[in-house]
Amino acid sequence: MRIVLLGAPGCGKGTQAKLMAGKYRVPQISSGELLRQAVSEKTELGKRVESIMASGELVSDDIATDAVTERLRSNESKRGFVLDGFPRTIPQAQQLDTRLGWMNRPLQLALYFSLDPAVVVKRTLGRLECAKCGASYNRYFSPPAKRGICEHCGSKELVQRLDDRQHAVRARLDAYERDTAPLITYFRAQHKLRTVEGEGDIQDIFGRICEIVDTEIRPLETKVIAIETGREYRSDALTLISGGKVERRGFAGDSQKAAGKNVAKKKVVRKKAAGKEVAKKKVVRKKAAQKKVAKKKVVKKKIVVRKSASKKRTRKG
Ligand code: AMP
Repeated sequence: MRIVLLGAPGCGKGTQAKLMAGKYRVPQISSGELLRQAVSEKTELGKRVESIMASGELVSDDIATDAVTERLRSNESKRGFVLDGFPRTIPQAQQLDTRLGWMNRPLQLALYFSLDPAVVVKRTLGRLECAKCGASYNRYFSPPAKRGICEHCGSKELVQRLDDRQHAVRARLDAYERDTAPLITYFRAQHKLRTVEGEGDIQDIFGRICEIVDTEIRPLETKVIAIETGREYRSDALTLISGGKVERRGFAGDSQKAAGKNVAKKKVVRKKAAGKEVAKKKVVRKKAAQKKVAKKKVVKKKIVVRKSASKKRTRKG
């Protein structure tokens, strides 16, 4: 499964990416997480991007692309990936297409989370994260049971990301409208865009996503596995994506099997016929030999009779 999640900051991509990664056993590759990690480890890259990130602006396309490429190439991404927060600009999407093309593993779907802008603002401004275990909450929509205390690890360090503060949120939303929203058209033109309603209960949204993935990506993967294992589908085996409904019509493997059975049947028939013919010939040959022997016996008998008759005649004479 090779999928990208698209949507405004706070639309729930990160939460859903984690759930998807768990269910489909593929890595979640989050450009924001990778960059934040670089910042917290104080690497060269981290130092370069720290202030840009805090301001809510986007880091350069090259930096973002390089940050995710290594993960995309890694062994753990062989079964697929969920890309979260990347690409965020058209040049990033083009780079992604090119690199995945080199790996012969093109993107399958772009899932766009649609959400009311007012909700987007509340989701980002209200977001809190546990500094210890990473659990996330929202002041407005999903606060912890005890105010300020993490339900998972009991830590009191529920913090707001620097770029979730008001001025940064404004800049991030502007960057989204300016640079990221055009990707909706980009992926629609590739027939890869699917929209998921981003509002509602987390598990309900996840259910809607799984429906899309299970009907549109997994049959394709089954097809790829089938091709790899030599059990190739006929081109009309599946009605894909178009109606959102998948219909299994038949395998080329099925007809190959039928053809195989036919060949075996014909072989048996031919063998039986050949066997009968041989047996027939044997019988004919046996009968002919018997006739010959009988004839010879008759001839011999006649000769003996003739000889004894002539002997009698000579004795008389
Ligand atoms: P996120 O966690 O996805 O909201 O990303 C946090 C910040 O990291 C963004 O506001 C950007 O500054 C930076 N960032 C993450 N991904 C990208 C990207 N694909 N392109 C440019 N900047 C990014």
